[in-house]
Amino acid sequence: MKVGVLGAGQLARMIALAGFPLGVEFIFLDPSKDACANKLGEHLHGDYNDPRLLAQLAERADVVTYEFENVPADVAEFLASHTQVHPSPKALAVAQDRLVEKTFFHDIAIPTPAYAAVDSFESLQQAMNTIGWPAILKSRTQGYDGKGQSLLKSPDDLKAAWELLEGVPAVVEAFVPFTREVSIIAVRNVSGSIVFYPLSENLHRGGILRVSESRYGDVMQAQAEAYIARLMEALDYVGVLALELFEVDGKLIANEFAPRVHNSGHWTIEGAETSQFENHVRAILDLPLGATTPVGKAAMVNFIGGLPASEEVLAIEQAHLHLYDKSPRKGRKVAHATVRAESTEQLSLLVAKLTKLADQVDDS
Ligand code: AMP
Repeated sequence: MKVGVLGAGQLARMIALAGFPLGVEFIFLDPSKDACANKLGEHLHGDYNDPRLLAQLAERADVVTYEFENVPADVAEFLASHTQVHPSPKALAVAQDRLVEKTFFHDIAIPTPAYAAVDSFESLQQAMNTIGWPAILKSRTQGYDGKGQSLLKSPDDLKAAWELLEGVPAVVEAFVPFTREVSIIAVRNVSGSIVFYPLSENLHRGGILRVSESRYGDVMQAQAEAYIARLMEALDYVGVLALELFEVDGKLIANEFAPRVHNSGHWTIEGAETSQFENHVRAILDLPLGATTPVGKAAMVNFIGGLPASEEVLAIEQAHLHLYDKSPRKGRKVAHATVRAESTEQLSLLVAKLTKLADQVDDS
């Protein structure tokens, strides 16, 4: 079997690494010549909307998937009319637009922060009467890792925040005074079977994920599973899906979902019986899904902007280092490391060691 992937970054790379033992081959489409998954399969080099390359991808791959959600909708539709595409173009379309996404959550009774559509400075001023302070202004599309976002603390912030958007449509949403951020990752295969991973507890700084910890037995697990199952059923979803949530006053509020494997699930490579990457491959090929049972307590630390010497990371004997073969650049995720431990205390010590190394090279 051959899987086609739109995008050949680290997520595609880890999908391929998980697919090889199952005898799966890969073909990637990516505009970057030195995209980091290239060595793991055939590389179609060019734009995502190049009709010639899309036709080649559709012809050579038994099934096509994506490593990022900002694939143009007509590209996904084109591929879906020629081959199997998972997740569906519909899931992509919902995830691409924060307003559509929030409305979708609302329609299936998954709570979100209060929000309003904004398409002019006047509509922003008006929306703030109902949303209240503080709030966050986000572009509807093309936003990730906190990009295209401004915190609004008082009316004085409105003008600069609106100008930063350069007129693109936006949503303004209430700032959630969360006690923590968690995400749930689940997998649904073509036959409709769903498995859930233990919650990830996530630490962001500057809008970018820094640390994720597996939380087996978390009190919020059942609520998160109910929400993500509802979302998957409503989208008739196939593959790995990640739902990012805020916890506030003992309740979960949805922030966004990612229709793909997710950074907060990288710990599953060593910390779960079957990784999110392997289960994504299994799901889209309609193979039985693997157990998501945790293997010890696990946590992952991202290396962003720079890399410590491998020797320093590997000197922590429980550390598993994953280099993405990407050259360091400001704010760029270039590697991660996962640690496993039997107790929470031991895990915290290991995370502290990795975080220290990550902070030394982090320029974001
Ligand atoms: P996003 O790109 O929407 O995932 O936002 C990136 C990060 O910004 C989140 O992980 C949160 O840490 C923070 N953030 C986004 N929206 C809100 C909100 N409504 N209230 C509080 N923090 C938020």
